[in-house]
Amino acid sequence: MTTDENYCHIPVLKDEVIQTLRLRPHGIYVDCTVGEGGHAEAILNATAPDGLLFGIDRDEEAVRRAGERLKRHGSRVRLLHGGFKNLGTLLSAQGVRAVDGILMDLGVSTLQLTDSERGFSFQKDGPLDMRMDRRSPVTAAVLVNSLPERQLMQVLFEYGEERWSRRIARAIVDERQKAPVSRTLQLADLIRRAVPRSGQGRRIHPATRTFQALRIVVNQELDQLGVGLAEAVSVLNDGGRLCVISFHSLEDRIVKRTFKALTQTEPPQLRLITKKPVVPGPEEIRVNPRSRSAKLRAVERMAAAPAPGDSGTA
Ligand code: SAH
Repeated sequence: MTTDENYCHIPVLKDEVIQTLRLRPHGIYVDCTVGEGGHAEAILNATAPDGLLFGIDRDEEAVRRAGERLKRHGSRVRLLHGGFKNLGTLLSAQGVRAVDGILMDLGVSTLQLTDSERGFSFQKDGPLDMRMDRRSPVTAAVLVNSLPERQLMQVLFEYGEERWSRRIARAIVDERQKAPVSRTLQLADLIRRAVPRSGQGRRIHPATRTFQALRIVVNQELDQLGVGLAEAVSVLNDGGRLCVISFHSLEDRIVKRTFKALTQTEPPQLRLITKKPVVPGPEEIRVNPRSRSAKLRAVERMAAAPAPGDSGTA
C-alpha cells in the first residue's frame, strides 16, 4: 500500500483548498496541475463515493505518478496529459462541457525540482532543460545560447524582476562565446560571479530570479495562465468555484486582475470568494518552507442573468 510518505511534494494550503471548493458527491472537478496527486487525493476523498475528478498535467511523469497514487479510486479519476491552456478542448474530448470546481496549483512540483535531470534547480548539477512537457522543443539551454544579449536582458528583467539583468546577460554572452552554457551549475556560478557581492541578498540565491525567468519563458507560463483562467471560467457551472494558488508576484497579478475584471462585467460573471489572498500560517511554512510564497485566490461563477423577456420559469 502506498502512503503519502512515498511522495515528495507536500500539497500547499490543502485544507483551505478543500474547504473553498465546497466539494460534494456527484460533482465533477478538475485539478489542472495534478502533479503528484496530493490535492487530487484530498478532492477524491472529499467527494466519495461518486464524485468525478479530471487530473491534468503537462508533465507525463507527473501523470504517471499521479496515476499510481490515485488508482484505488478507479473510474472516479481520469488523468490527461496537456497544458491547462487547452482545458476546454481537453474536457470536451472526454465528453464534458461543464464542471463544478477547478484547482490550479501553479509552478513546479518538488518532484520536478529534486530531479536534477530536469534542470529546474540551481542547487544540483544537471542539463539546463526546465521543460515541464518534455515534448516541447525549447529548453532553457536553447534560450541561453541563442537569444541576443538585449533580449536575454529583457527576459531576466521582465520575468525574473532581476535588477542585475544587464550584468547577467553580459556574463552569459561572454561565457557562451567560449563554450555553450549547458549545465545548471555552470549558469548558477556565472550568475554568482556577475552579481556584485553587495547586491546579493542573503535570503535568496543570486540565480533564483534568472532561473524563474527562464522557466517562465520555456514553459510559456504566463500565457498558459492568462488563457487557462479564461478557459476555466468558461467551463464552470453556475455556483462552481475556481481556486488558484500562485507562487510569485507575476502570477498573482494575472490572477488578481483577471478575477477583478470578471467580477465587474455587466452582469458579473464571477463573485470573489477571497477578498484578500489566503496564505499559509507559520506552522505550514515551518513544515513546508516552499509554501511561504503561496497565495490562494478563489472565485465563484455567477448564474447568467435571464435574457430579456425570459420569465426564468421554463
Ligand atoms: N497540487 C499538486 C502539485 C502541483 S505542482 C500536488 O499536490 O501534488 C505543479 C504541477 O503543475 C507540475 O506538475 C507542473 O508540471 C504542472 N503544470 C504547471 N503548469 C501547467 C500547465 N499550464 N498545464 C498543465 N500542468 C501544468
